[in-house]
Amino acid sequence: MPDEIGPEFFVRLRSDLLVIGDSILTDRHHASNGNYDPTDPQNQIGGIIPSFSLSGWLRHGMERVVQNHGETVCHPGEANANFRKDEVYDRDLKAGYHEKGACLDESDGCVILDLFGGLNNRPGKVMRRPIQFSPVRASVEYTRGQAEGHYRRVGRQVASRNPADGRESLRAVELDAVANLDGAWHLRFREQTPEFIGLLAEAIRFLDGHRTDFLHQLGGARNFGGGIVECELINPLYTERELRRVFDRRGEDTASMTEKDERWQTSHLPEFQSALTDRIEPRRDARGEPDD
Ligand SMILES: [Zn+2]
Repeated sequence: MPDEIGPEFFVRLRSDLLVIGDSILTDRHHASNGNYDPTDPQNQIGGIIPSFSLSGWLRHGMERVVQNHGETVCHPGEANANFRKDEVYDRDLKAGYHEKGACLDESDGCVILDLFGGLNNRPGKVMRRPIQFSPVRASVEYTRGQAEGHYRRVGRQVASRNPADGRESLRAVELDAVANLDGAWHLRFREQTPEFIGLLAEAIRFLDGHRTDFLHQLGGARNFGGGIVECELINPLYTERELRRVFDRRGEDTASMTEKDERWQTSHLPEFQSALTDRIEPRRDARGEPDD
């Protein structure tokens, strides 16, 4: 592992609208003291996007990358769980998944189990952090995994379809949302191996390329265009200063950043990608399947 690549990685995430169910934690203490009005767009509300949804989104992208290499991965659900929809679980098992932990019978486990853990309290080797967001750009610390983002409460009216009712509202739904998100999601490998970095890089590229696929949008409100996320692995060779520059709309990339992009693309990334292939594909040979 080259010394200049540490265990910290940042993924740039940009989204016009993110709805994380009911689980955005808001932080209103610096909003208008005592006369908080949730509909006033001037409210300066920051908050936290918990990592559960982000983690599921990343995991799904990584699963796809491994499956595209022709290998199965751990199903996210416990094998002995009582699934409400057994037939859907069985169908998953035929479509690129094995029962969680089944991979331990013939190896040290698949790379997804390694990274996300979850069996017998085995911790995952990638630590996913929540993203703290703030509407005040100047106070966002990208190098600490923060984002600019604007908390919004979105109201939806569900109207009656009966012509006699004149679209009378049947019920109103309120959703917590973050609008105009742009920031850095901080990930850290507890144990760093070249194949983990290769998988992270490929998964982020896959997710960016499939960002409008329903399956790879993030969070709720997907039918309404929510959760379309542009994402990019920020060059791990960058210094903190260069990382901040990525988010600086006035600044151009420096010559040093261009040189690092070149080095990342032509020298490091291909090495990490072939480490990933080596990790995934020998398991197939070991089972005696044809090796082209
Ligand atoms: Zn597995």
